[in-house]
Formats: sequence, structure tokens, C-alpha cells
Amino acid sequence: MTATIINGKEIAAKKRMEIAEEVSRIKKLGVTPGLAVILVGNNHASRTYVTNKEKACQELGMNSVLIEMPEGVSEEELLSKIEDLNLDDNIHGILVQLPIPKHIDEKKVIESISPNKDVDGFHPINIGRMMTGQNAFLPCTPYGIMVLLEETGISIAGKNVVVVGRSNIVGKPVGQLFLNQHATVTYCHSKTKDLKFHTNQADILIAAVGIPNFIKAEHVKDGAVVIDVGINRNEAGKLCGDVAFDEVCEKAGYITPVPKGVGPMTITMLMYNTLKSAAESLEHY
Ligand code: NAP
Repeated sequence: MTATIINGKEIAAKKRMEIAEEVSRIKKLGVTPGLAVILVGNNHASRTYVTNKEKACQELGMNSVLIEMPEGVSEEELLSKIEDLNLDDNIHGILVQLPIPKHIDEKKVIESISPNKDVDGFHPINIGRMMTGQNAFLPCTPYGIMVLLEETGISIAGKNVVVVGRSNIVGKPVGQLFLNQHATVTYCHSKTKDLKFHTNQADILIAAVGIPNFIKAEHVKDGAVVIDVGINRNEAGKLCGDVAFDEVCEKAGYITPVPKGVGPMTITMLMYNTLKSAAESLEHY
């Protein structure tokens, strides 16, 4: 079997067109969605991510505000900036690009963002709402994975889903979203015994580990859907995922490539969440 490639770039482009249409609709009602991004320090990768987020906002007709703060900024100053943005009616989404310097308490920063503007979906209130199936901002990468499957026409109810990785931003929430859609979910992590046994039960296998080519053909059941979240560099410096793509392609039914798989969906869902926040602010008037 050769797997069908799930083209994240194409699906993201389709979603972005839908978002742009909705943005122009709510602009006519007097609200332009606005995203504030706070960048602390001068981490090269963070700067690239932030630039891509600004570019996406511009392309979709949204406002974006970049707030740059020096590496040595105090926690108090950062929290005070977030408080200003919480109160600013032109800003519908706030995100602080992670990682932030060690002298600042990341949890405190995340919790200081108004849950109604937490478009990253990292605030414990949004996580709690997601767990209990209430209206919430869903974390962007997990949400993007669900949209990829929906757009590909892959059903979820009753499926065995195995998530390798349990980070707060990818592994844990993506498992929860599958559970919300009636899958049977197993989490695997660095202490899991006999990983291969578990991954071979998966109708849908999510790899969110951060190790190049970690998931091999021997980990995959014939015909499984394999979603590769990893963004890594191999020894040659080339971008690669957590899945050994060529060999897994021969066994899986569907697979996401790296790049052009899950990656493009993350910023797309951030844009969607910012639009959602702006639309909900309209409803409050
Ligand atoms: P993370 O916080 O480093 O978590 C990695 C997870 O993998 C941990 O839960 C860890 O288990 C588990 N793990 C490590 N070694 C393992 C092993 N030998 N067997 C089984 N599990 C193992 O990483 P993350 O933030 O979730 O990111 C994962 C990957 O996704 C990275 O490559 C990252 O760059 C990428 N990513 C991509 C996007 C995107 O937009 N496409 C977004 C976010 C992240 P323990 O908990 O036991 O340590």
C-alpha cells in the first residue's frame, strides 16, 4: 500500500480563504479582528514565527500589532503590557511567543491573558472548557489536526487513536479533542513500555515527539492514518518530521508530510481563533 498524502498546505489555503471572507463580512459590521503578539528577546526561530503570524494577519485583512520587549524585561512590565491589551477593544487576540526568558514565570504570563482573548488556547480556563466540551479557544496545532482529518473525510468516532507525546501544547490537548469526538485514546510517552505494541493498535497515530524519524514502519498498522506533528532537522540540516516518511508511506493509508502537513494548519487556526474572538465581541454589544 502507498499512503494517500494529506496536503496540509492546500487545506490551510482553503480554510484561509473562508476566514478572509468572514473577516470582510465582520469588517462591514464595524469590527476588524486584531491580534497582538508579544515577542520577548531576540530568539531567531521565535522571530520567524512572529513574522509569519503578522504576514498571515495582513493577508486575511486582520490587524496585527507586534510588541517587542528586551530579553531583560521584568515580569511586572510584561504583565502590565498584557493588562493594557486585555482592556484594548481593538485587540481580540493576545499571544506571548514562547519560550520566554527563564526569569519570567510562564504560567503567570499565560494566566494573565484574558481567557476571552487567549487565541493560543493555553489558558487553564480554555483548557478546562475544552475538556468539558464547552465553547473554548482550542489550541492551534491540535485544532489544525482535527480540521485536516475532517477535510480529508476521515471519521473519528469509535477509532483507536494513539498519541505519542504528552506536551501541554500538542499531545495532551489533541488526545482530548479526539476523545471529545468519541475515539478511544491512548497516550504514550518516554516512560511507556513496549511502544510498538500500543502504536500498532492505532487506526489513527499522532506523532508529537520531537525526534527525527522516530516512528518507523514497524510502529504502524496496515492502513493507519499517520499524523506527523514533528518539526526537526536531520543530520544534514534538512527539515523532517517524527515519522520515517518513506518507509511508513508503504504501510499507512494516509500520512501528513513535513513540511506542508500539520505546520500550515497551526497559523491558520490562530487566525480562525482571532476571527472567532472578534465575532464574539460583536455579539456582546
Ligand atoms: P515536547 O514538549 O518536547 O514533548 C515531547 C513528548 O515526546 C514528551 O511528552 C515526551 O515524553 C515524548 N517522548 C520523548 N521521547 C520519547 C520516547 N522515546 N518514546 C515516547 N515518547 C517520547 O514537544 P512538543 O512541544 O509536543 O513538540 C513535539 C514536536 O512537534 C516537536 O518536533 C515540535 O517542534 C513539533 N511541533 C510542531 C508544531 C506544528 O505547528 N507543526 C507545533 C508544536 C510543536 P515525556 O513527557 O515522558 O518526556
